[in-house]
Amino acid sequence: MRIDILTVLPELLDSPLNQSILKRAQNKGLVEIVVHNLRDFSTDKHRRVDDYPFGGAAGMVMQIEPIDRAIAQLKSERDYDEVIYTSPDGEVFDQPMANALSMAGNLIILCGHYKGIDYRIREHLITREISIGDYVLTGGELPAAIMCDAIVRLIPGAIGDEQSALSDSFQDNLLAPPVYTRPAEYKGWRVPDVLLSGHQRKIDEWNHEQSVERTRRLRPDLLGEE
Ligand code: SAM
Repeated sequence: MRIDILTVLPELLDSPLNQSILKRAQNKGLVEIVVHNLRDFSTDKHRRVDDYPFGGAAGMVMQIEPIDRAIAQLKSERDYDEVIYTSPDGEVFDQPMANALSMAGNLIILCGHYKGIDYRIREHLITREISIGDYVLTGGELPAAIMCDAIVRLIPGAIGDEQSALSDSFQDNLLAPPVYTRPAEYKGWRVPDVLLSGHQRKIDEWNHEQSVERTRRLRPDLLGEE
């Protein structure tokens, strides 16, 4: 899998994309994540990629030419499953979407900035618009990093113990059960006996019951019980 990220602030992505599981997955060759500076696709002598909006509104708008050039160059080199624009008014990113995108071949993620991008890009070049939640951030870089993290950890081999990703919250529409580690007792606070019993079937049953109980209490919408 390859993910190409188009941004005016590549530095913002340096750290999140190069730590922990994202770093290991790239080192193992499971995914290639390439960050492109949109200014490299500008023909302006000051490498500008934004301009004033038509109609006299406040703020700046990202121009169509550098973005079209960047996407066209990438598409001339390989096929892409989706050209994603990070946008607060897009479909809200969730675990089923991360699961589906983790099975894609190649993705482009376009990060907006300023007031957003020239709307013609959204009409003609973007195949999918994704929001990470109902709030407005300064740019699409953090949303892109969040999506990469959620997608890449689902690629087989990215996490040492694959069962671990499959038992996380939202897989199967359930929240994860509580987890504990040593010591078994701390200040009189004990780990539930069943987890120390060594009886795997009972442990599995307890974990499932806990998942259902926590989901019903904290997120009944996931069980269709709202
Ligand atoms: N004027 C835009 C609006 O009201 O929808 C917001 C622009 S925002 C300041 C700049 C960029 O940050 C957006 O173009 C988008 O790429 C990104 N962004 C901001 N909030 C986001 C969110 N919740 N999810 C995904 N991307 C977001």
